Amino acid sequence: MRFEEREVPKIIKPTDAIIRISATCVCGSDLWPYRGINPIPQPTPMGHEYCGIVEEVGSAVTSIKPGQFVIGSFFASDNNCPNCQIGYQSSCQHKEFVGDAQAPVVRIPLANGTLVATPDVPSADMIPSLLTLSDVMGTGWFAADAANVKPGATVAVVGDKDLTAGIGADSVLECVGTQESMAQAIRSTRPGGSVGYVGVPHGVELNGEELFYAHVHLHGGPAPVRRYLPELIDLVWNGKINPGKVFDLTLPLDQVAEGYRAMDERRAIKTLLRP
Ligand SMILES: [Zn+2]
Ligand SMILES: [Zn+2]
Repeated sequence: MRFEEREVPKIIKPTDAIIRISATCVCGSDLWPYRGINPIPQPTPMGHEYCGIVEEVGSAVTSIKPGQFVIGSFFASDNNCPNCQIGYQSSCQHKEFVGDAQAPVVRIPLANGTLVATPDVPSADMIPSLLTLSDVMGTGWFAADAANVKPGATVAVVGDKDLTAGIGADSVLECVGTQESMAQAIRSTRPGGSVGYVGVPHGVELNGEELFYAHVHLHGGPAPVRRYLPELIDLVWNGKINPGKVFDLTLPLDQVAEGYRAMDERRAIKTLLRP
């Protein structure tokens, strides 16, 4: 991992926006390529979690304007096609992955559908919490939603099976993506319960017979973060939640390599990067 100068992104399509990044961060899923588990054949920009100030918009962009503070998902989406309309913007027919957000400036495609503006430019102390809505908080929210978490239900943290007296939890959130974590999540769920899985799978294979007799609901995948942005922005803006607490290391962007190292070595849970 290294920090280097690249060309400043520009508007390419009329539906693009250019964002001046206020804060970005390192994701747990960035560690798959960092550790060599996902092959990286050539130098590749990184980063898919972002928020910041709109600097410029293409001629077709009407929903946001320069000067506004915006948040978007790691999948740009038109928020308009049949899949978006039922709340699965991460399966948008026109989705594009935003993969170069660990930078001072980023180009966001499909800006009308992708970016959500906050009511005003936030104070500096609110930025970490707003940044989490771009992925980690929105993805966790989806895992809970997909696992059908309800007030009063038993929700398992994978690894805490004994707590349910052998019955299994109503809802289990699988947030790792390995064979072991998925198998444990399914086995920790009671008959009729739900698993919400958001860990990017690496070598996960499910046993059909075990699945057949488990009687569990399985729902997950790349989180449709865009679906939750308006609701979650409201919760952060009104001080109801403070998910920015997840960041236990803040570094300037040019020390990005140390941010990855600290997470890889588990010295940090999640690294916030300031351009
Ligand atoms: Zn992420
Ligand atoms: Zn769509």
